[in-house]
Amino acid sequence: MTVVAIDGPGGSGKSTVARGLARRLGLDWLDTGAMYRAVALAGLRRDVAPDDADRLARIARSMRLEMGHAVLLDGEDVTEAIRLPEVDAVVSVVASHPAVRAELVARQRAWVASRGAAVVEGRDITSVVLPDADLKIYLTADAAERALRRAGQHAHGAPARADVRAASEAIARRDRLDAGRSHSPLVVAEGAIVVDSTGRSADEVVDEIAALL
Ligand code: C5P
Repeated sequence: MTVVAIDGPGGSGKSTVARGLARRLGLDWLDTGAMYRAVALAGLRRDVAPDDADRLARIARSMRLEMGHAVLLDGEDVTEAIRLPEVDAVVSVVASHPAVRAELVARQRAWVASRGAAVVEGRDITSVVLPDADLKIYLTADAAERALRRAGQHAHGAPARADVRAASEAIARRDRLDAGRSHSPLVVAEGAIVVDSTGRSADEVVDEIAALL
């Protein structure tokens, strides 16, 4: 029963690498960022302010969330909606509330416990959610490359320079919020191995992590 935990900042290649590694190992994959995004989306749809911790925590506790290849929020496929720029803009504030985190961490642990083996990625997986994982990875990449990857996700072909600049600013803002928050900040956890994906393909990084395992 293998559990691999991967943390890292936006654009580090976490999701692509975690998915590739899960496929290689024949394991399920959990993108915990998508769970915070689902709470943020549900909040936006109900006109809840991102700093309204109580209402957001209530939403987190009452929502039905199914995490698979698609993300189902109360039965609706929100896989694409949770990637909208409006969600990007508020998700780090939504994720800073301890009561929201407590609910999602409990769901993440239950998800892993019911499977026994998995690849789980996020910001606090190696430090808080699964500190006893078999392998803990902190995946990073230099800031310029992370911005280019993020901008490229929404573009057809090479992203425009203005989009790269906007992605760079959005990533820097989320980095500041995620690493600077007082509750479960993004850190290199004790026992985590730092892997740098700069200039490397996802396959190369998956090879390295599989070899570490
Ligand atoms: O991974 P992704 O960029 O989709 O995550 C969106 C946001 O969710 C992050 O910027 C962070 O604020 C929050 N998050 C978190 N803890 C996790 C995963 C994501 O706080 N384990």
